[in-house]
Amino acid sequence: MSVSGTLCRRLLTSAITTLALFIGVANAADSKGSDVGALLLQQAESQTCTSSLTEQCLRLLRLIEQEDSKLSTEQRQRLHYLQAWRAAIDGDYKKSDKLIAAILDESKDVNTRIGAATLRVNSLSEQSRFVEAFSQLSQLVVLLQEGSGILSSYREQGFVVASSLYADAGQYELASYYANEIFKQGLASDGYTCVDDHARIAALFGSGQWQGIESLMAQGIEVCIKERNSLYANGIRYFVAKLDVSRGHPEQAIALLRKNYPAAERDGYAPQLAQFNALLAAAYYETGQLQLARESALAAVTHGTHNHYAESISTAYRILYLGAKQQGDVASALAYHEKYMTADKGYLDELSAKALAFQTVQQQVAAKKLQIDTLNKQNRILQLQQSLDRSASETNRLYIILLLTVLGFIAFWTYRIKRSQLRFMKLARRDGLTGIFNRQHFVSSAELQLQYCRKSSRQACLVLIDLDHFKVVNDTHGHAVGDRVLKRAVAACQKHLRSTDIFGRLGGEEFGIVLPECTLEQALGRAEQIRAAIADAAGSDDSLAVAVSASFGVATIERSGYDLRKLLIDADDGLYRAKREGRNRVRVCDDAQPRERVAGVAVEQA
Ligand code: GH3
Ligand code: MG
Ligand code: MG
Repeated sequence: MSVSGTLCRRLLTSAITTLALFIGVANAADSKGSDVGALLLQQAESQTCTSSLTEQCLRLLRLIEQEDSKLSTEQRQRLHYLQAWRAAIDGDYKKSDKLIAAILDESKDVNTRIGAATLRVNSLSEQSRFVEAFSQLSQLVVLLQEGSGILSSYREQGFVVASSLYADAGQYELASYYANEIFKQGLASDGYTCVDDHARIAALFGSGQWQGIESLMAQGIEVCIKERNSLYANGIRYFVAKLDVSRGHPEQAIALLRKNYPAAERDGYAPQLAQFNALLAAAYYETGQLQLARESALAAVTHGTHNHYAESISTAYRILYLGAKQQGDVASALAYHEKYMTADKGYLDELSAKALAFQTVQQQVAAKKLQIDTLNKQNRILQLQQSLDRSASETNRLYIILLLTVLGFIAFWTYRIKRSQLRFMKLARRDGLTGIFNRQHFVSSAELQLQYCRKSSRQACLVLIDLDHFKVVNDTHGHAVGDRVLKRAVAACQKHLRSTDIFGRLGGEEFGIVLPECTLEQALGRAEQIRAAIADAAGSDDSLAVAVSASFGVATIERSGYDLRKLLIDADDGLYRAKREGRNRVRVCDDAQPRERVAGVAVEQA
């Protein structure tokens, strides 16, 4: 038995209720408010639409349609869902399918999607598009397995449609499973339990497992009577009568069917009337009431125009054929036999089309699953690859960090070593007491400077300084004071030096200065300044009152050339003259009296 009739009405009314609630809430939130929305809410809440698709419900739908411009996207999808149901009830499957397809594409609301999918399965089945129906059903089943948020009424209707379609395809085990789930999950709701019971009984009846089915049937009929659902009550009674006939009690079947025939007529559901009449015809034939059998069979054919390949039509023609044959009406028997054969073949063809559609979709789903599994595997391989790449790059990063650390360490140590080297070099070049160039460094620096002066043909002079009677200072004040006097004399000299001048301690209390770019005259002037500075330095620091003077010998490249050795000899000559002439003075080499003494260590060393 098709679920479309009651199910359509049921879904439409429950959807109207939901939508009316929805609009009511939306209007309540709006400060201006909408009287229409409030009215829709009130009417839905007063239960006018909970049991059947009344004129009132259709009016509600029209009112909601008038609100269209004020509806949100989701509300409009719900409205389209209602319109799709109405179109399906009117038999306009094209319009219904179009609306449903758009909802399935766009809606994010799980209940709207389940409702739409349920409607689609139902209408595809009604159109005998079984492959599509089963394909849609497999998607519906997935939706139904989604977790929270599914209203139990939507789940219940989804299960009923699944059970019904599987039963149609001869998949009674699956049909039973979904019908039983309704009760197991406690989804059966007031006003609809009768339909749930019908689904369960239809699945069980189809499977041929009839043990205990009678009590279930009795219970189901009771529920349907309570719910005032005579259509489904008679649907269950049809199974009861069928069971009676198959168990050899045709008279019981006749009594049951005849008793409830007026109610079935009132409901006016043609497929059910065809079923009742076909079964009555078979029962009458069994009891030998050929005339009644013939009448019922003809009535079945009349009511069966909706589907020429239904089981009831096949049965009806079979009874007509058998009756005609028994009465010896060969011509009629032959005509009915032909019709019986066609109807039976059509019925069987449709049955196998459903079964085949079911199998096809099963295969497609399995293939898709396999494809998804393969994709998942490839995905896992890719993920593994990525994590390998990640750890490889992490290792590289660690290597780089290690390398940088080692390089940093090497750089640090290189810097430290270099710094020590520089310090040692500086120490090696300086005189420990005064901090100025020592003799070796003075000599090498002086030679470089003289070379440079020679290349650029610049002037240069050399000044030699020797402190006067320094021995006396040491002897009188001690060596330590002598040291301080030495340092003071150096400081006095430095005050009058340029950055290009080269100043060094040649030994003891003797010093040398190379003055580049300096004429003899200028050199004499600067030596004089230094001499005065040393002489005046007494008491300038730490109240050291020990006065000391120095004698100066000056040589110029104009006389001695750029040779340091000669310059030293000539300067020493001047120094000797200064000492001789009374000390504390500046003198140049005396040409008239070439001296024999070559002063100081400097000359020997140079
Ligand atoms: P003059 O040069 O005027 O002829 O007399 P002088 O007393 O300076 O004679 P000489 O050049 O012979 O003596 C140099 C003295 O300098 C000898 C030594 O005791 C002293 N002397 C050399 N080096 C140092 C030193 O580093 N510190 C101190 N305190 N004295 C030093
Ligand atoms: Mg000396
Ligand atoms: Mg001296």
